[in-house]
Amino acid sequence: MTETREGGCACGAVRYTLIGAPLFQNHCQCRQCQRIVGGGHASYLTVRRDAARVNGDAAQWAMIADSGFAKASVFCPRCGSPLYLALEALPDLLAFHVGGLDKPADFEPHVVTYAAGALPWDYLDPAIPRAATTPG
Ligand SMILES: [Zn+2]
Ligand SMILES: [Zn+2]
Repeated sequence: MTETREGGCACGAVRYTLIGAPLFQNHCQCRQCQRIVGGGHASYLTVRRDAARVNGDAAQWAMIADSGFAKASVFCPRCGSPLYLALEALPDLLAFHVGGLDKPADFEPHVVTYAAGALPWDYLDPAIPRAATTPG
């Protein structure tokens, strides 16, 4: 049986299904993620773009990531919840915010990206490997 994950925004206007095992799971402590989620880090579960089925009218805004590439933050225009990131440099992938999953405990972060941006009060499990920026 193929594993699937369901999720959506806080108000329920946008829902999604992710099919198959995630490719990458990480916390990110870059400044943009801190602003997007309004906290110390964002937590992402990355899947292939064709493994995601998104229902509802999501909105997006484009920005230049700390890496220098364009990326889009996709969010619900009704409640404002961030849903996922689409990265220009990795067009086949989408990085979903773990907090939007219906079962957010089902998350195993492999790495902390942009750990150089860690805030002193944002404690993460020291056993998780750190990358100062991206894992390369
Ligand atoms: Zn919403
Ligand atoms: Zn980030």
